[in-house]
Amino acid sequence: MESILLLAHTNAGGSLAKPALEALQTARALNAALAGSTLTVGLIGASIQPAANQIASCGAAKFLGVAGADFDQSRYGTDAAAAEALVKAANATLIIAAGTSRFARCLAGAAQRVGGRADTHVTNVEVIDGVVAIHRWYYRQRMEAVLHRAQRPWFILVDPGSQPAWQGAEGIANLEAIATAPSDSARRTAVTGFREPPADAQTIRPDSPLLLVAGAGWTKKQSDGQAHVPEAEKCILGFLKQTRASLGSSKSLVDQSGEGQSVLSFLSHLNQIGQTGSTPRHAKGLSTCCHGEEPHTVGWRFINERRAINLDPNCGWARGKADVLYVADAFKVVAKVSELLAGKG
Ligand SMILES: Cc1cc2nc3c(=O)[nH]c(=O)nc-3n(C[C@H](O)[C@H](O)[C@H](O)COP(=O)(O)OP(=O)(O)OC[C@H]3O[C@@H](n4cnc5c(N)ncnc54)[C@H](O)[C@@H]3O)c2cc1C
Repeated sequence: MESILLLAHTNAGGSLAKPALEALQTARALNAALAGSTLTVGLIGASIQPAANQIASCGAAKFLGVAGADFDQSRYGTDAAAAEALVKAANATLIIAAGTSRFARCLAGAAQRVGGRADTHVTNVEVIDGVVAIHRWYYRQRMEAVLHRAQRPWFILVDPGSQPAWQGAEGIANLEAIATAPSDSARRTAVTGFREPPADAQTIRPDSPLLLVAGAGWTKKQSDGQAHVPEAEKCILGFLKQTRASLGSSKSLVDQSGEGQSVLSFLSHLNQIGQTGSTPRHAKGLSTCCHGEEPHTVGWRFINERRAINLDPNCGWARGKADVLYVADAFKVVAKVSELLAGKG
């Protein structure tokens, strides 16, 4: 009989963010599919009662928590100690957690402490003939494997964005505190704060329904023999402002800054999509001034509807990689679309 533990940490405001709710939905589905299994919630944070109340109606048999100032921020020593205490208190055999940076940092260590195993980047959890199986992509999202393990406890970190988020009414959860006193050595790392770009320079928006990808063509010489980088910046930022799309880039474009060429100032390597970049999840994607070469398009694996704008009718997108290819000048198309969107208010 499996004992399922949904492990979640609170975010800065003390609530549970979408990735935690997606992991909860996964844990509930597993609980429903495994006869005789139990579902427990385990929470970590400074103050966790609001988070427990947020998911009070999720159907968990028990709510356990490790709380206190020591558990406010992401830190390996204290988070691993909290996870270990919760797994032991719940006698958990299957631990479902969101693959956040905070959990990615500490749960492999927690698994080691309790004699378990951990799998990351899980995109689906199912029960096949009574056996729990996970889905995971390999070789930069080119091959999908279905795996199962006999080892318990088994920590399963679910990729954010891959599952539907749990939705339900708030309530008053009966929270049981699990006493955990981390040693001084577990607390020797002090979290002093975050460094992040200002809000108006934040172009990566994982929750946006649309991904706009900019390729190196934006900085290339155009039909008048000149490059138009300032116009390209204006055009792309105007589109992002109207649509609140997330901004991706090809490797060629982000690499140009390292090569001393004129580049779009708001792009960094974090924007890069592809084999050596990221594999974001969005309902739709629009590629502009990008050739659609294979190492780039592997990053489009989880984009449901793909469109591209390219002057070249023989570009990579034309060879089956885009649902729709507009053979057109992206400067003109993107400016016109932004103008139409602005007109709509
Ligand atoms: C091992 C390996 C890993 C790699 N990993 C990645 C990766 O993770 N991500 C990635 O992106 N690349 C990756 N690459 C590089 C990849 O193969 C391509 O070189 C790169 O993606 C090309 O970028 P691009 O299409 O922006 O530029 P280009 O190939 O220079 O294409 C520019 C395009 O812009 C078009 N264009 C120009 N002006 C306009 C206009 N006005 N309107 C419309 N279209 C216009 C041109 O027709 C052209 O097709 C990798 C390569 C290797 C070998």
